[in-house]
Amino acid sequence: MTFQSFQELLPEIAENETRSITILQNTPGLPPAGQYLFIELFCTELDCDCRNVMIVVFHVQKEQQVTRLRYCWETKSYYDKIGLDFREDVPGVFGDFGYSSPYNKYFAQAFEEMCYGNAHSKNETEYAKRLKRHYQQFREQLKKNQRDSDEAAEQMIPQPYSPCTCASGKKFKFCCKPIFYCIVEAMCAAEDGLHEEALEWISKAEKIVGNTAEVLCRKAVIYSFTDRQRYAEYLQECLKVNPQHPRAHYLQGIDSNKKGDYESAIASYLRAIHYYPSTDHYHLNETYNNLANVYYQIGEHPKAVAAWKMALEYSPTDKMAQFNLQKFGASI
Ligand SMILES: [Zn+2]
Ligand SMILES: [Zn+2]
Repeated sequence: MTFQSFQELLPEIAENETRSITILQNTPGLPPAGQYLFIELFCTELDCDCRNVMIVVFHVQKEQQVTRLRYCWETKSYYDKIGLDFREDVPGVFGDFGYSSPYNKYFAQAFEEMCYGNAHSKNETEYAKRLKRHYQQFREQLKKNQRDSDEAAEQMIPQPYSPCTCASGKKFKFCCKPIFYCIVEAMCAAEDGLHEEALEWISKAEKIVGNTAEVLCRKAVIYSFTDRQRYAEYLQECLKVNPQHPRAHYLQGIDSNKKGDYESAIASYLRAIHYYPSTDHYHLNETYNNLANVYYQIGEHPKAVAAWKMALEYSPTDKMAQFNLQKFGASI
């Protein structure tokens, strides 16, 4: 089981529905004064329905974890059935004490009262019911995020008979498809700092299709991490082979933006947008987002909003574009 906090996934609900207790003054035998948040964490494995919540007790002022607690609301036979041995009296509240804090017991007791009231009745309080609801909401959100990222991954791979994303004019199947996996591996390796490995992947690609504009452009990207001179040379070579290679223009846009030459950056991004096939939603979304950011930086807010809208059109689940439009769109 790996756990993730509820507030990370559903910050708005967590904002209103996370419990805390406040200890007003330092008293012998009690934990130090301050506010203690009961932060909820749930299991992130969707094929595991383990129905429990981990609580991290967090001292707000000290920004420190104090202890960890657990609430399991199903019966022992349920957990047995799914192969989980909590070795404890379930349903119930437990301390998950990898912590040496002397206040573990205090918080475990406080948590038990939150879940069951004072009477040790094992009748669930509203709070306990809320934890169960949060568990379901958390899983729904996980599923949604999973679907979104599957969709995004699918969008990255062009359809075989769509125009190739390198703007050669050929269909993807007869152009860059045979080297697609080499390119993906090369780019991942380069980003991980594995320069030699990245070059090996790209030379595999070269053996398959030759020194195409796409191969040259990817070589440029690999050298962009280590050798700016060679990066520039490969980029020029790429544009010699195909002056319309969209990614090369996109990269030039990034360079200009970094140098603060916003006019050139905008011109490069617009060229990239012009040359990317209209079916290449993934790269068009990416480029429109960059374009929007440049417009925003130079105070061209209506143009920025228009570009974010285009980015969203090409990828309706794009969280960043949604966020930017919400934040800046209204003020225009
Ligand atoms: Zn689980
Ligand atoms: Zn191609």
